[in-house]
Amino acid sequence: MVDRCMICGETTAYFFSKSYTANRYWDALDVSYNRCGNCGFTFSITHQHLSDEEWEHINARAHHADEIDIKTKSIDIKSLSSNKPPYGPMAFALNLLVKNSIISLESSLDYASGYGTLAKLLKKYYNTEIRCFDPFVHEPEPLVEYILSGDLRQYGLVINSAMFEHVRKREELERVNDLVAKSGILMIHTVVCENIPKDPNWFYLTPIVHTAFHTNKSMSILMKQWGYSSSIYSPLAKSWFSFRKDYDLLSALPSLVQDINTELQTEFFLHRNGFVDYWKGF
Ligand SMILES: [Zn+2]
Repeated sequence: MVDRCMICGETTAYFFSKSYTANRYWDALDVSYNRCGNCGFTFSITHQHLSDEEWEHINARAHHADEIDIKTKSIDIKSLSSNKPPYGPMAFALNLLVKNSIISLESSLDYASGYGTLAKLLKKYYNTEIRCFDPFVHEPEPLVEYILSGDLRQYGLVINSAMFEHVRKREELERVNDLVAKSGILMIHTVVCENIPKDPNWFYLTPIVHTAFHTNKSMSILMKQWGYSSSIYSPLAKSWFSFRKDYDLLSALPSLVQDINTELQTEFFLHRNGFVDYWKGF
C-alpha cells in the first residue's frame, strides 16, 4: 500500500526513524517517518497505524502528567517553555488585532484549547473572553467557558494552538477548518519549516505525541485548498492568522498591518498574499 500525503495527495517515502526510550511520560516506541516527495510534509507512519485506544492512552499519559506537573509546580519552567505555545505573546497579538478592528473575539473559539491557558490569560490581563472546545479536557467553569461538541457552529475566528503537529488523519485538520465562517479567520500556532530535518534528535520530535510536520509548501497548499487568500504572521506569538477570500478587510490588510508595526516601532506582524513562509531553517 502506498501511503499518500494527507495534504497534497502525492506519494510519500520512508524518511528516517527514531527510538523513543521509556520515561515517566511514555513507554518505549520505535517510530518511522515518511516524507511527501511533492510538499515535504512529514508524518509518523507508526502513529497512524496505532489503534485509537493506543493513541488516546499515549496522549492521556503525556498531556495529563504534564499538566499535573504544572499545577503542582513540580517542574522546572525552563524544561517546559521549550515545548509550550507562547501564550502571553499570543494574547497580546490577539488584542492588537482586536483593537485595530482586524479581528473580533465576539464570535471566536479556541479549538483543542486543552486546559484553556490562553482563555485564562485573555480574561485576567485583557478582560476579554473566548470560548473553548477540547474533546479530552475540561477545566471547571467559570474559569474557562467550554462548548460541548454538539453545540459547535461556525465562528468568525477559530484559534488552534499546538494541534497541527498532533494529527494522524486529514479529517482532524478538516474539523478545524469546518468551524471557520465563510468570511472568517483561522489562527494557528505550530512549527512550520522550509525543510523537515532528517534528524531523530530534532527538537520538535522530542514529545512522543508529535506526529505531523508541516512545511511552508504544504501549509501554502493547505491554505489554498481551504480558500484562504492571505495571512499575517507574528514571530513573537509564533502564530499565523489566515484570512478567507471573503474576509471584509482583505485589501486593507497590508496597510493596517503596517500601521500597527509603525505604532510598535517593530515588525510585529508580517503580511503576505498566500501563506507567510517565515521560517527557512532550524
Ligand atoms: Zn504532500
